[in-house]
Amino acid sequence: MAVNENLRTPIVSVMGHVDHGKTTLLDRIRGSAVADGEAGAITQHIGATEVPIENIVNKCGDPSLKDKFIVPGLLFIDTPGHHAFTSLRSRGGALADLAIVIVDVNEGFMPQTIESLHILKRFKTPFVVVANKIDRIHGWEANKNLPFLATYNKQSERVKSDLDNKLYEVVGELYNIGFNSERYDRVNDFQRNIGIIPISAATGEGIPDVLMILLGLAQRFLEGNLHYDAKAPGIGTVLEVKEEKGLGTTLDIILYDGTIKKGDTIVVGSLGNPIQTKIRALLKPRPLSEIKAEEKFQQVSEVTAAVGVKISAPNLEGALAGSPVRVASPDTIDAITEEIKSEIEDVQIDTDTIGVTIKADTIGSLEALVNELKKEEIPIRKADVGDVSNRDIVEVTAIEDPFFSVIVGFNVKVLPDAKEKLQSTEVKLFLNDVIYRLIDDYKDWVKKQKE
Ligand code: GDP
Ligand code: MG
Repeated sequence: MAVNENLRTPIVSVMGHVDHGKTTLLDRIRGSAVADGEAGAITQHIGATEVPIENIVNKCGDPSLKDKFIVPGLLFIDTPGHHAFTSLRSRGGALADLAIVIVDVNEGFMPQTIESLHILKRFKTPFVVVANKIDRIHGWEANKNLPFLATYNKQSERVKSDLDNKLYEVVGELYNIGFNSERYDRVNDFQRNIGIIPISAATGEGIPDVLMILLGLAQRFLEGNLHYDAKAPGIGTVLEVKEEKGLGTTLDIILYDGTIKKGDTIVVGSLGNPIQTKIRALLKPRPLSEIKAEEKFQQVSEVTAAVGVKISAPNLEGALAGSPVRVASPDTIDAITEEIKSEIEDVQIDTDTIGVTIKADTIGSLEALVNELKKEEIPIRKADVGDVSNRDIVEVTAIEDPFFSVIVGFNVKVLPDAKEKLQSTEVKLFLNDVIYRLIDDYKDWVKKQKE
């Protein structure tokens, strides 16, 4: 076996609680690859980092491994935030093909760790759990960048048993959420057991293992999902809608199928009718070595999946983070526009029935919130993407039932004029960046009101 040219790079998302080490892990994966200066050095994308297969197998000390793998490398999404994953979808599934859930092994599971796992369960996304910060275990002797077992075997018996005990706790936490797990080197069947990889993002210990296990998961579970057609019109997901100096509003997207070219007509989701526009420029980051302050990006004429790229085009102001972006031709543009429109409307709910009003930062996170509220049988009057606005408050003020004179906001802010308005009304506002916290807060409040 060797790299199969019809398979694209799997897309990997890093999830976990704040401060447990997502950014450090990504920096380590990126940084060590750059520092090693190996053949097939990593490529910086917009919103993502690509680590080619050569780089991964060299790091693991056995270049012959390359022939065992069929994927060309791994593409890590760089916008870590546990909610990033919820907001990133492709054709109804998750955009990320694989995930890493990171947990500080000294602190244990936290709300966002648990929420990440629930999301992965719902999407059936293959993942590994990374038990980070093993270097903080008292008495740990760091061995920079070594594979886990090599460094583990050099530790004292007390340190080993200390780590083993911490890992048992992780196994227990995972069991409570419905996953069987073991330290990754003891897992025979990754379909039935989740692998836990002890690492230190700070010292690089265990990083080679993380990369190898991800490749193994891709190999075993994803082959069917990774076929793509380089000649097909591009399909992607909007990571971020961003203002750029001199460019106006731009889209950072992950393209997961086909090709996208400068001059192509694209359709992208917005709260109203989808936007139809023509690509003025496709932009990639300039290599680190040549960065000049005024030229952050370089133009490319076309890119092929899987890739992260910035799109500059007119009329992108209303574009929605998390929505689909697709290349269209005169023959397909009407159908594609209709499809994108209904995909977004499926998530937005607007009924006359009574219920809470909900807001979220992207359509993906809105969808997740809608799902969870439905599970709890909490009715929804209106669901929308965006910060809490004055108009939201005015609408909700008109609702007489006090239990539904409520706005529930996930990962959103309150706009300044809405803040003022809020103070002069009875409207109750719940904000959080963990869905089940939000729902618990609402339920607790309802219970208290009823007492
Ligand atoms: P994020 O919020 O999940 O992105 O977490 P960060 O990557 O920003 O890490 C939070 C803090 O933990 C930072 O001060 C990091 O330097 C530190 N940190 C992350 N990984 C490790 C590790 O493996 N060992 C130690 N000792 N510190 C770490
Ligand atoms: Mg971070």
